[in-house]
Order: sequence, then C-alpha cells, then structure tokens
Amino acid sequence: MRLIFLGPPGSGKGTQAKLLGERLSIPAISTGDMLREAVREGTPLGRRAKAIMDSGELVPDDVVIGLIRERIAAPDARGGFILDGFPRTIEQVGALDRLLEGNGAALDSVINLLVAEKTLIERMLGRAAAEGRSDDRLETITERLRVYGEKTAPLIELYRSRGRLADVDGSGTIEEIAGRIDRALADRRGGREVRG
Ligand code: AMP
Repeated sequence: MRLIFLGPPGSGKGTQAKLLGERLSIPAISTGDMLREAVREGTPLGRRAKAIMDSGELVPDDVVIGLIRERIAAPDARGGFILDGFPRTIEQVGALDRLLEGNGAALDSVINLLVAEKTLIERMLGRAAAEGRSDDRLETITERLRVYGEKTAPLIELYRSRGRLADVDGSGTIEEIAGRIDRALADRRGGREVRG
C-alpha cells in the first residue's frame, strides 16, 4: 500500500502514520522527522533548514523532493509506505507522481484528517510542552496554519478529483482515530479488512 496522510499541522498525521505503518508493516516516512534529524546532526541541510522550520515556512521543494526520492528507493519501502507531511505543495505532488510512475507504482489512498482549528492549536501547544519542538510556539503555529491553508490545503481537492481522497474525522482519542482510518481504508478497498 502506498498512502499519504494529509492534514494541517497538529492534526495527528505523525502519530497516526506511525501507528498505521506498524499495523501494515510498512515504513511511515516523515519529511519533518528527516529534517529535524538533519538539524540535530548539524548537517549542511540541517543548518539550512533550521531557520526556515523555526519560522513556520516550508523548506524548498527540491530539498524535500530529494529526501523523498532517496527514502522511497530504500529496500524497506519497496512494498509500500506511508508519507506523513509530504507532499505539501502542488510541485511536490507532481514530483511524487513522476517518482511513482518511474517505479511503476501507484498511490492507493490519501487520508485527510479533519480537525477543528482550536483543537489543532491546543494539540501543538501541548506538544511544545511535552516534546520541546522549537516550531510549536504560538507565533510559529499561526504561521504554519497560514502556510498550510495557502500551499497545502489545495492538495485536498486535487486528490479528491483523482478519486483518491478519504476524509477521516481526526477528533477524539488516538485509538478512535486509528479505528476510523482502518474503516476508511477498508471501505476504499471494497469492504475488505485492511491487512499488511
Ligand atoms: P512537520 O513535522 O511535518 O510538521 O514539519 C515540520 C517543518 O518541516 C515544516 O513546518 C516545514 O518547515 C518542514 N517540512 C516538512 N515537510 C515538508 C515538506 N514536504 N515541504 C516543505 N517543508 C517541509
């Protein structure tokens, strides 16, 4: 299965992508995690990305496209993967289309997590306290939500028009949301159980 998680920052994409990856035995690939790792390691990419991430803006398309190109070519991603936080722009959608086509692979579903803005902000502020993410400050959160609306939200209708979108209510507990995701995927696969 090749899946994408779409949704605003704080919608639970990362948590749900990791859990679904475990249920399906496929890797959950997060460009945000890859970038944060580069920042921690102080690589040239990390040094370039840090200020951009801390301001709430998007790092350049070519940077994240390069990361994804390498990562989905790795042996553990051959049988499928879940993308969390990529694509985030129309340009990234085009690049992913070409990468998949080049591998003779197709996208199965795009899970769109729906969460009220008030809940998003509460979750991100909670995460800032728990994990100390430097981009979970209120000013950055506001900017990330704005950037999401401008650059990423248009992807919802794009994937819907391709018949690939599954809207999932992202409110409630982690387990409730995971259950809804499984049901949405089962529905899309004609009512069969979701298996790895
Ligand atoms: P995330 O953990 O997915 O919320 O990503 C954290 C930050 O990393 C974002 O606010 C962006 O600055 C950067 N980032 C992650 N994924 C992408 C992407 N696909 N395109 C551009 N920037 C990204």
